[in-house]
Amino acid sequence: MKHIVSFSGGKDSTAMLHRLLSQGIPVSHVLYFETELDFPQMKAHLDLVSKNTGMPIIRVRYYRYFEEMLALWGWPKTSGGWCAARKHSTCLKYIRGIKGDKIEYIGFSADEVKRTQTKWMLDRKWPVKFPLIDLGMGEADSLAYCRSLGYHWDGLYDVQNRVSCFCCPKGGKAKREVIRSNFPDLWEEWQRLDEVANQRIERTAKSAAAHA
Ligand code: SF4
Repeated sequence: MKHIVSFSGGKDSTAMLHRLLSQGIPVSHVLYFETELDFPQMKAHLDLVSKNTGMPIIRVRYYRYFEEMLALWGWPKTSGGWCAARKHSTCLKYIRGIKGDKIEYIGFSADEVKRTQTKWMLDRKWPVKFPLIDLGMGEADSLAYCRSLGYHWDGLYDVQNRVSCFCCPKGGKAKREVIRSNFPDLWEEWQRLDEVANQRIERTAKSAAAHA
């Protein structure tokens, strides 16, 4: 039996991995999707998790670059979109290719029970467990647990409650403000990416004008 942890590097999946190991679950894979837009601090966090758990982290990527798709499609909708789809399809393909019986563990917190019922969750052909929900651990519990283990993300959680892509459109204006105020280099990069995304808006406007 393969025990596969879907690992984002955030507080919930970090807490889940440690809980599973402390329960004696023989974790076989720790799977991490590289979005290309991870906070730079995440690299040190992943190294620390590997050091503390003894588990190598398997990094997977989509076959097309984020920036190429950004130029084609523009920023994804805040409700999800192509960026989430590329992550889901890449991870599912990888897990599908793992031979033999398997269980996947996902770190949805006890505050996120609804997320267990989305289409892409229900599409899985193998059993899935949500250990944090079973343990009744909410997001605050996971963060406190991680901090007790010495994790710090170099302060990322001091200024925001999610450490996924630094320019995630789901974060709206508030996320932009956090990045602008605290991470000038990333803010500069975000503005450059805005220009890439605008290429699509300009193309769409030119095409509409040509067909008018
Ligand atoms: S964190 Fe945001 S930008 Fe990154 S893949 Fe998820 S929805 Fe897309």
